[in-house]
Order: sequence, then C-alpha cells, then structure tokens
Amino acid sequence: MKTATKPSVKRKLIVANWKMHFTTHKASLYLHKLSEKIATHKDVEVVLAPNMLSLQSLGMQVKHRQFKLAAQNCYWRDEGAFTGEVSATMLHGLVDYVIIGHSERRYVFSETEKDIRMKVQAVLRNKMSPVLCVGETAHQRADGETLHVLHDQVVSGLANVTGEEVARMVIAYEPVWAINSSNSKTHKAATPEDFAVAEKEIRKQVASLYGKSASEAIRVIYGGSVNADNARGFLSQEGCDGLLPGTASLNSEEFLKIVESAHDNKGRDKAGK
Ligand code: PEP
Repeated sequence: MKTATKPSVKRKLIVANWKMHFTTHKASLYLHKLSEKIATHKDVEVVLAPNMLSLQSLGMQVKHRQFKLAAQNCYWRDEGAFTGEVSATMLHGLVDYVIIGHSERRYVFSETEKDIRMKVQAVLRNKMSPVLCVGETAHQRADGETLHVLHDQVVSGLANVTGEEVARMVIAYEPVWAINSSNSKTHKAATPEDFAVAEKEIRKQVASLYGKSASEAIRVIYGGSVNADNARGFLSQEGCDGLLPGTASLNSEEFLKIVESAHDNKGRDKAGK
C-alpha cells in the first residue's frame, strides 16, 4: 500500500467549468463582475476554468486571494512535436488545477483510460492538482454498472500515483447523464443520495489502494446540472468536498449563490474537514 500525507484543512472547493464559452474579452469582463461581488471565505476555495487561450490574461487579472485558475485539459507529454496540444509543463505557474477525464473529453474526443491516466501523472509531475472526473453513462446506469464503472475509472486514473500525490487530487463524480452537454441539455442532476453512494465507492477504492487516511484526505466533489437551488443538498452530504458547476457557472448571480451555499454549509460537515 502507498502511504498518503493528509492535508491539514479541507476547504469546500467550487470549480467553475466554463467549457468553450466566453471569448477572452468576455471572460475578462465576467471575471471583473465576479470579483466585484464575491465575498471571500476562508472555508471556500473558488476555482475558475476558462478556455486555454484566456488563461494567461486572466492569470494577470485575477486576484489570487479570490480565485484560483484551472485548465480544462492538457496533454501528457511535457514537450515535443504534438501539434495543437498544451502540456502540463506549460500550465505550471499559471494554474493550480487541471480538469482531467471530463466526460466531454472521454466521449466527444475519445480519450481513453490510458490517456487519462497519463494526463493525471503529468499534472502531478508538474506540481498541480488533477480534478479527475469519473461517472457512468445513462446506459451503464440502466444496466446497474455504476459502481463497476467508478471502480474501473478510479483504479485506472490513479495507477502509478504515489501516496503523497494522491492527497493533492480531487475526484469529481460527474454522472454523464446529468451533464448539460451540447447534445443533451438534461438539466437533470443526480440526487444527493446518488452522490453519497458514488462518493463512498470512490473513497473505498482510494482506501484499498492507499489506506484510510488517504481516502479521507482526497477531495470528492459533485458535478452535473448543479445550480443555486440544488447545491446545498449536495454540500450537506458529509463526504461532499465541493462542486463542479458548468452551465450555472456562466451566470454570475447563480454562481455566487453556489459559492455562498458552500460557505453556509461549513458547520454541517462533521468529518472534521
Ligand atoms: C460539467 O460538464 O462539468 C458540468 C457539470 O456541466 P453542467 O453543470 O452544465 O451539467
């Protein structure tokens, strides 16, 4: 078993996945608006994931005590003849997090488990934190395969990750059927109870690979049609360390309400996180 180092305090993590929305100019205006209105809370970490092109300029504009930045993807080689790709090495210093294995990367861009595993390792090697997305499709769910899918995606995604590195990771449970993608505007979130089942399975796998303290240290968050109305339900689940909103993060009022829900939920988490 690979031993993990437990981070001292866990803050609720809210990661806004802006996907392929906002030009650099619009992203900058939106950040300005958020930054004027957001209250900073010690117990909430707010991360913005704009498109790759906007990262550099937002990095100069952002107040680091208010927001951290994330990339939505990266390539796993550090450098070389890989036209169109951006490496984790290039993102180092610009972002703290990189979203890896988002279902749109898996199913629209046909990323394999091997790609995802290599990307997780590249992000860790370059001293950032991967937000590894896992979750079942509607078909897999209908076939009762949810826990198997989570098992396989977690075990594969963590292959070769050391006990020390795993504590830096975030795993997002994002059931594919709940995500508002270009071809399915579901607006149908999972329930907090669905999340709790998935979260336990994820921590169980982490515990079997790295031990109990690693399974408590790793942050497990929920994504899939999160909005200002349902955020609280997920956040009040004992094992919920945060949220990954997509569509709702594009509306400043709604996004700020989600952030506030994370702050309000502080007292409810009994796990000492
Ligand atoms: C996502 O794709 O990460 C996501 C959660 O999207 P949405 O909130 O729009 O379903």
